[in-house]
Amino acid sequence: MIVDQLFDLVDIGIVILDNDLKIYKWNRWMEIHSGKPAETVTGHPIFEIFPDLNNPAFLRSVKYVMNFGNFYFFSQKLHHYLFPFKPASSLAANFEYMQQSCNMGRLTENGNSDRYVYITVHDVTEVAVYEKTLLEMNMKDGLTGIHNRRYLENQLISEFKRHRRAQKTFSTIMLDIDFFKNVNDTYGHQCGDFILKSIAFSITSAIRSTDVFARYGGEEFACLLPETDMGGALYLAEQFRKKVEKEVYYFKDTRIEITISLGVAELSNDMESPEMLLKKADDALYEAKRTGRNKVVASQSQ
Ligand code: GH3
Ligand code: MG
Ligand code: MG
Repeated sequence: MIVDQLFDLVDIGIVILDNDLKIYKWNRWMEIHSGKPAETVTGHPIFEIFPDLNNPAFLRSVKYVMNFGNFYFFSQKLHHYLFPFKPASSLAANFEYMQQSCNMGRLTENGNSDRYVYITVHDVTEVAVYEKTLLEMNMKDGLTGIHNRRYLENQLISEFKRHRRAQKTFSTIMLDIDFFKNVNDTYGHQCGDFILKSIAFSITSAIRSTDVFARYGGEEFACLLPETDMGGALYLAEQFRKKVEKEVYYFKDTRIEITISLGVAELSNDMESPEMLLKKADDALYEAKRTGRNKVVASQSQ
């Protein structure tokens, strides 16, 4: 029958389970992506072939579909996938498994009390990769590739709450390149961009994976240091300062030396908002600039 041909031609997976949750139909798409021909799975319980489906959420959904004729939608955002299939090779770097949106519903035959459950499987990996990329772009700085201010501010809010609740130490460093306008004016904007990228790279390699380092604006960077007190933050800030001071940057054979100024603040109980913590570090940074640059200054509120 023409309809049967369609079953194997559509670009989605279709599985039909019988009353005992044994596989009754398994279309061509499912064969290709699972690597299991229909004749090897038909008549076998679905949980024998895919043991991971034997979980409370799936079982509950199947029960409601069978007993009450409900429809179910398994969103990729919530479940990622039902069937552990490999994604297309061009997308494998992003997701280990094909991302799937699945529907489930009941089928019955006229004059027959047998009940069946169908599951349709849509491969949405490409869309999921696109969404992931957009989300990342939204949180990254285009020039340096490190996090941007938006990401830092989001993290600052959640870290502020978390540290307040747990009464843990939390510090932040603000840093700004000294006389950066001179770099642009003397060597050109391209060279300035190169220095920004190089400094972002140097500092990224000096922090822990739990620290958040971001480009806050122009030639200003900020670092959030969870569970770090003022002493630890001052030590790290001094490491950053020395690292940049020691490094010689070469841009098209031109030798450039750079210094940075840094302000450090630690979360204290009198700070009413997350912004206060950054503001204190920024005030200390301003003090470092005012009193000679190429130095680390601790916020006065400590
Ligand atoms: P200070 O030591 O007081 O910080 O002096 P400064 O020259 O570093 O500070 P100022 O605020 O006067 O100048 C900052 C410069 O940073 C000016 C601006 O053109 C440059 N800048 C900001 N963003 C970028 C960028 O993305 N690329 C380049 N090349 N330059 C940038
Ligand atoms: Mg500057
Ligand atoms: Mg600045």
